[in-house]
Amino acid sequence: MWLLGSGSRGNAVLLESGDSRLLIDAGFAPSILVERMRSVDIEPESIQAVLVTHEHTDHVRGVRVLCERYGWTAHATVGTITACRDLAGCGAIPFRAGDGLSIGDLDILSVKSSHDAAEPVVLVATSRSTGARTGIAYDLGVAGQSVIDAMRDLDMLILEANHDELMLHGGPYPASVRARIAGRHGHLSNGRAGQLAREVAHRNLRQIVLAHLSEKCNTPRTALSDVNSAISRTKFTGRLSAASQDRVAGPFEPGVRRATAVQLALAL
Ligand SMILES: [Zn+2]
Ligand SMILES: [Zn+2]
Repeated sequence: MWLLGSGSRGNAVLLESGDSRLLIDAGFAPSILVERMRSVDIEPESIQAVLVTHEHTDHVRGVRVLCERYGWTAHATVGTITACRDLAGCGAIPFRAGDGLSIGDLDILSVKSSHDAAEPVVLVATSRSTGARTGIAYDLGVAGQSVIDAMRDLDMLILEANHDELMLHGGPYPASVRARIAGRHGHLSNGRAGQLAREVAHRNLRQIVLAHLSEKCNTPRTALSDVNSAISRTKFTGRLSAASQDRVAGPFEPGVRRATAVQLALAL
């Protein structure tokens, strides 16, 4: 997994499993996305599909051009496609929040999220060849029980840590924008990210990558410190890091799954 960038100016996550490559969101300009893929030796032609979590520009900006140029298939919820002319225009394949879908070597579970978009989703992608499970939970105001349940037993978790509540309160935005960001359909604060991380952290979770950090109302240091203290009493022994808006982070790799490890041992 690579984060090609994450924040209010764009989001894109690249997953590789077996010989499949899938992009989750393509929220940067096409030239930026292509440059960042090539910086980690990935040719855009090798990507099969892009799955869009919701219609906000920081998640869809490059989708149409890249689908047309490289023949990727776009997937998004019915509500997202209806709300986004670019997705409708490139023949995106619809699903409903809560549906599962299979794209190449990845089985994807979608869960409706709490965000101010038409039909937004958080996702869990499971590798069919290794069993590794990756959760992608950003652009949500609160994590309801269905999101928490979906994010259990992961190997890797991308988790929104958008803002520090005090920095947001004293920040440069008008009151209406602050209320939207902090609301149930806004973005996860560091504190709420920490709560979710604490709920789902376990011994075999190898990676937590904090994402969608606000540049005005957060710092990587604050986000990492808050989430780190939230999970300090869990069994988490993996790596906690923060993604950047402006550069690629990764590759992130899951550990060897217990079941896979046992199978390997038996095969030997
Ligand atoms: Zn966003
Ligand atoms: Zn959004």
